[in-house]
Amino acid sequence: MNAKSRIRLSLLGLITIIFLVMVSCGKDAVTEAPPPTISEATSTKVAVTQAPSSLFLEDGLVTDITEEACTLSGGTETMCYRITVTSIPLDHEAGPWCPATITDTDEAGGIWPESGEVYDVDGPFVENLDTFYEDGNWQLYNDDGTIRVTESAEACAAAARPNVDEAYQNYCVQCLVSHLEEGAAVNTYVIPITPVEQATPTEFARNSIGVALNGVTFELPAPTADILRAYTLAPFDDCGGHINLNEGYHYHAHTGCPPEVEQADTHAPMIGYALDGFPLYARLDKNGEESTGLDQCRGEYDEVRGYHYHVADPGSNSFITCFKGEVGCKFDGVGAGQLCDATAMGDRLGRPEEDRPGGSGGPGGGRPGEAAVPPGFDEAATQLGVTTDELMAALGEPPFDLEAAAVTLNVMVEELRDALPPPPQQQPGSLPQG
Ligand SMILES: [Zn+2]
Ligand SMILES: [Zn+2]
Repeated sequence: MNAKSRIRLSLLGLITIIFLVMVSCGKDAVTEAPPPTISEATSTKVAVTQAPSSLFLEDGLVTDITEEACTLSGGTETMCYRITVTSIPLDHEAGPWCPATITDTDEAGGIWPESGEVYDVDGPFVENLDTFYEDGNWQLYNDDGTIRVTESAEACAAAARPNVDEAYQNYCVQCLVSHLEEGAAVNTYVIPITPVEQATPTEFARNSIGVALNGVTFELPAPTADILRAYTLAPFDDCGGHINLNEGYHYHAHTGCPPEVEQADTHAPMIGYALDGFPLYARLDKNGEESTGLDQCRGEYDEVRGYHYHVADPGSNSFITCFKGEVGCKFDGVGAGQLCDATAMGDRLGRPEEDRPGGSGGPGGGRPGEAAVPPGFDEAATQLGVTTDELMAALGEPPFDLEAAAVTLNVMVEELRDALPPPPQQQPGSLPQG
């Protein structure tokens, strides 16, 4: 695939630049703007006790990595790293995502995962979406062959809202770095220095899987079904990332772009940390093989690295499948004054991704083939950090069993009760907000 070679080229370019800079910087070199450095591999040490400071791309760090007390999701009180990063990649370009016309080549667009495969989003791919998805309503381009692309911050916000503005159905959705407000792409991770295994792995109800060594977020799976339901496409770039206005640039697939910590043996390189502190490694080892010993979370143990994960193939729209350890926290921005108590509401459940067009919503905005969602439940789902579908499925038919639903959703029953709208008789004539 073209994406691969370009990625390899850009990685090679980065390494070359670092090498050249290192070689050319003599003792009297100007040091006010140090080049980004990736430390040499320290693979003889067990990665779980390896300080991350030396592994992150220096320019990706907003402040030095510090250590502080924290409470993990399982209630364990321990010490954590505080890692504040800029989520805009400084080691590779962001985009392109949407091609401009139906004759554009794959150079002009990104990628899209479908049924385990990765497709180049080139002009013909966009032109043929109706046959690809066997649905004649797909029509992302005008008669002259130009593709309808969200051009402004307002357009990208409108198209990425859960309740997609009708005007932005049949659009290729992309937000640009220039659309981000200042500071929007800064994120803070508080993750355990020594990860704490839990007896039963946890499913995701959080706002991040982890962080790459360039500072970019490894995000939860993109809500592709919701995106497609509104006849929108929100491609990833060739590095597997795209932008939303709240989270900044984030990855949904690993195609080999973030910095790698090479291992001394044939093991796959390290690429980041999961939110539970266990390190993330690439999928394939130096022989191009995937480990056969992965557990249900995509993790395994070896004597050199301890417990660690291997990320999934890019077509899966995911990285790992669950958290083996108790997770720490992710804060938007620098999280000034915020301590990590992962058992507390608010951090326990992250805000869901903004880039989930096609949500059910108000009257007439229902999803084809699905029952309309009553007013207030979209907001409740957002507050709880789950999708509306997940919330409705957990609640089932009224009268709701909140205890059972809370367990299913991995939230506290009080949180659920607070989030839900009052029963209908208490809000006569109320209308959902558009
Ligand atoms: Zn996304
Ligand atoms: Zn491994």
